[in-house]
Amino acid sequence: MAENRYNFCRLCEIVKDIPEDIGEYADRLYRLLDEDERADSKLIDSRLKICDACEKNVQGTCLACGCYCLVRSFARSQHCPKKKW
Ligand code: SF4
Repeated sequence: MAENRYNFCRLCEIVKDIPEDIGEYADRLYRLLDEDERADSKLIDSRLKICDACEKNVQGTCLACGCYCLVRSFARSQHCPKKKW
């Protein structure tokens, strides 16, 4: 059986103490990314627009991978586990 490489989010692994405020958490993760790995606001917005209309999105969490949609959208190299973006 092929390994499912979408079952974890390496971004979450680099923040040790996750604050309750998802906005603060997201900002911290974004700043920790190398500049060339950061998606720009246009790319983030286009990804989140797709997530907003997706049945796997439950209150901002993707049930296909367990990541926050916002956080997953930040890294240019990340992909939607359902190949929607
Ligand atoms: S990452 Fe993909 S599967 Fe998950 S909520 Fe967004 S569009 Fe849906």
